[in-house]
Amino acid sequence: MPKIDTTLEAYRVLFLTGSQHLYGPETLAQVAEQSRAIADELGAGVPVAVDWQPVLTDPESIRRAMLDANADDGVIGVIAWMHTFSPAKMWIGGLTALQKPLLHLHTQANVELPWAEIDFDFMNLNQAAHGDREFGYIESRMGVPRTTVVGHVSDPEVQSRVEVWQRAAAGRTAARTLKLARFGDNMRFVAVTEGDKTEAEIRFGMQVNTWGVNELADRVAAVAETDVDALVAEYDRLYDVVPELREGGERRQSLRDGAAIELGLRSFLEEGGFGAFTTSFEDLGALKQLPGLAVQRLMAEGYGFGAEGDWKTAALVRIANVMGAGLPGGASLMEDYTYDLQPGQQLILGAHMLEVSPSLTTAKPSLEVHPLGIGGKEDPVRLVFNTDAGPAVVVAMSDVRDRFRLVANVVDVVEPPHDLPKLPVGRAVWRPEPDFRTSATCWLIAGAAHHTVMSTAVGVDVWEDFAAMTETELLIIDRDTTVRGFQREVQWNSAYHRLARGL
Ligand code: MN
Repeated sequence: MPKIDTTLEAYRVLFLTGSQHLYGPETLAQVAEQSRAIADELGAGVPVAVDWQPVLTDPESIRRAMLDANADDGVIGVIAWMHTFSPAKMWIGGLTALQKPLLHLHTQANVELPWAEIDFDFMNLNQAAHGDREFGYIESRMGVPRTTVVGHVSDPEVQSRVEVWQRAAAGRTAARTLKLARFGDNMRFVAVTEGDKTEAEIRFGMQVNTWGVNELADRVAAVAETDVDALVAEYDRLYDVVPELREGGERRQSLRDGAAIELGLRSFLEEGGFGAFTTSFEDLGALKQLPGLAVQRLMAEGYGFGAEGDWKTAALVRIANVMGAGLPGGASLMEDYTYDLQPGQQLILGAHMLEVSPSLTTAKPSLEVHPLGIGGKEDPVRLVFNTDAGPAVVVAMSDVRDRFRLVANVVDVVEPPHDLPKLPVGRAVWRPEPDFRTSATCWLIAGAAHHTVMSTAVGVDVWEDFAAMTETELLIIDRDTTVRGFQREVQWNSAYHRLARGL
């Protein structure tokens, strides 16, 4: 059975160099040699492979390169650089055809200008300074969404900016290839977890469909006892298992039941090629427990998950997991739960009933069993831990009727100021930017959801590129945010996003 892929290894971006025939074969050979060196240097500094392509000098080869980029599932984006002057009308057909994210790299072969040696041959060869301006004109005239990066590729800032774009492009691809399984429907009467699944497939490419939870329960019932033996042994190795769940402990069976849920869930997801899923505590069918431990472990492996049927947040968790591939930290379902409102030092305590990913901690989680007040099932097993202190972002998606709205808040996760001995769940305590009052006010003004993805691996910059390349509204709450400015942005966005999409 195929395992879910949460690496960037299968992906690459094409490196296209623009020029023209005017310069003659000798100069074009130099252009090719230098642009290949630039592509290689960039490729060595970024996580997704950079695939240099032969220099483009005419409209037909440009259009063909774009069509080939569209057709190749491994290509997640295109970088374009005009080493020399490449008359931009040649690019109209190609840019019209391109359906992948575009990065306009404004660079040049040399770092220093060779003042003593420079002659007009050098000037002819190194004219990206105006070649890229010609290209920028046609991109803007055509309204082509793109990311513009300026500077020499040896500059670490240029490399990290390209990395941000690559990670966003990987997230876009993860969305476009995502199959999401919902077990049961949304929690009854809840508004913000609803949404237009057809529009989500049109906009992001994700397939969101529902299965009866007893199809999952049948899988769980069919799990082999020997497989359960092996999985609980893995739990024993990986976690601080409380005595009652250990071998010979009085509640060992609860852990075995949790392991069976994980095995059944995993087989369902792998067989169907699903990258994300939702559950609903109101619709557990024959499952003995609300899936807690299983969901936590699957999220940490790269799956997306949303509770209470929240498929939009499930998709965000999957996308965040792919965007953060290979980086320290992780991504998880999170919910703003309750506050410490002491003036000047307000904190948000985030958690969920059970389902917070242990990828948010580098510590060894404790594996425990406790009653759950809702759902009416047996006590669920769960991992208990604190999220590591450090920078993070929480991102929510709401359906505002004619479009999807992303809202992101830059936050600082802190060490909980006190122990939480009676709160047996994975949790995070954070200080939102720019301050608690502004953050919460803006969040409410935006109508942003109470479920979020918390990402400690990638920051808000990757989400900005993701939103740009999927042409999705993104409202950011960070150190520069004021309530007045935010309120206006929400109003302007209402007009902009309707106009941008046309009638
Ligand atoms: Mn919830």
